[in-house]
Amino acid sequence: MNITAAEFIISAPGPKQYPVEGYPEIAFAGRSNVGKSSLINTLTNRKGLAKTSSRPGKTQLLNFYLINKSLYFVDLPGYGFARVSKETKSYWGKMIENYLKNREKLVAVVQLIDIRHAPSRDDITMHQWLKHYRIPTVLVLNKADKITRGKWAQHAKIIRQSLMPDPETPVVVFSAETRQGREELLGILDKMVKS
Ligand code: GDP
Repeated sequence: MNITAAEFIISAPGPKQYPVEGYPEIAFAGRSNVGKSSLINTLTNRKGLAKTSSRPGKTQLLNFYLINKSLYFVDLPGYGFARVSKETKSYWGKMIENYLKNREKLVAVVQLIDIRHAPSRDDITMHQWLKHYRIPTVLVLNKADKITRGKWAQHAKIIRQSLMPDPETPVVVFSAETRQGREELLGILDKMVKS
């Protein structure tokens, strides 16, 4: 996939504001601070397209980015922020789950996991939803620049053992810092959109 155009369209508080053109969508899911904004900026080659280091409260919205005038990247609200109330957490959960369950043109979800750490409870729950709703998923193990290359396989193994992804789920080692994995991920997403 060669991204030649990328523009922010809307921060949607709920389904009423989601775009209606019916373009295919690729959603990005992960804990707050895992690097979703940085991943979207790296893929699109636009430094400030997605805002990095967003605060809780601002992140309860689904952000839609129109790619090549024919596809949406959807930044889902980051989960697992310790400082928010239980009510807010359950609202986020419902919003994400409803989106995953009901969005007809959702072709794939990119789930980000920090390669340095074992998946959190929230990471595991999210992955189970994706499996349950049979949504094609790509696991992106990011911030790879923060550990030595020699440790990638070992960390990837621990993450796989915890999440137990389906065998067809691609796993991409990624870094927004070095752009490691960018071409590989774009190639995978291209195939998923076209299939
Ligand atoms: P979001 O909350 O998931 O959108 O996360 P952000 O994209 O705002 O990133 C959170 C923090 O992690 C920021 O300080 C980023 O600069 C940093 N970060 C994101 N991706 C990477 C990466 O691949 N490598 C390194 N070293 N830092 C990263």
